Amino acid sequence: MLELKGVNVYYGAIHAVKDISLTVNQGEIVTLIGANGAGKSTTLRTISGLLRPKSGSISFEGKEIAGVKAHEIVRQGISQVPEGRRIFAEMTVMENLDMGAFTRKDKDGIRADLKRVFELFPRLEERKSQVAGTLSGGEQQMLAMGRALMSRPKLLLLDEPSMGLAPLLIREIFHIIEDINRAGTTVLLVEQNANMALSIASRAYVLETGRITLSGDAAKLAASEEVRKAYLGG
Ligand code: ATP
Repeated sequence: MLELKGVNVYYGAIHAVKDISLTVNQGEIVTLIGANGAGKSTTLRTISGLLRPKSGSISFEGKEIAGVKAHEIVRQGISQVPEGRRIFAEMTVMENLDMGAFTRKDKDGIRADLKRVFELFPRLEERKSQVAGTLSGGEQQMLAMGRALMSRPKLLLLDEPSMGLAPLLIREIFHIIEDINRAGTTVLLVEQNANMALSIASRAYVLETGRITLSGDAAKLAASEEVRKAYLGG
């Protein structure tokens, strides 16, 4: 479904992503793990069109999308839940969700997806008139995910959904990611919480200072000495 080949991304002179190649197949949850500053967010932001790679190709359903504008990439079926959530703080929950459907005109479909978002996140329905900036951290994460789902993406990009959340809430969010995947959305998940990410993913890539150093079956990586030492606290 998604294939990156030899992708390089720079911030000025800083070479943040180095020759990355990876694939995500339809129906999978794939995770990209690695330490602070490894280039995980940069990779996601490049896929979603917020950054332009200096070289390499990114194809989605057989079409080249490297360099394509972000809103056009949303239209093609990729939606990103950014790190730090970036909800529209001044707007209500409902207005945020409406913004998520900005590429669409199918009113019935939008209504059906809103119903589905409220089933996944009942708390958002209870709070639909609340100003989003006053939501708790966990609720803001739910809203960011709900907003992304409102574009009915084929591929959902999640950037550190566990960040800043209490353990119980992290578990809840990860269960919901599995539900979203089971309902047919392919997921590429970036996480520092390698334990949780590897537990729900089928495959994983390990990123170190901009390069992929390990990849493969998530359960096998979770069991490997190398990954346990570096990312799973021994
Ligand atoms: P984290 O989990 O801490 O967000 P990450 O793996 O997502 O880490 P990136 O945010 O992709 O890492 O950063 C990769 C590298 O690029 C880092 O060295 C970072 O300092 C650098 N970088 C990120 N954004 C910028 C920017 N806007 N300008 C310059 N350098 C940047």
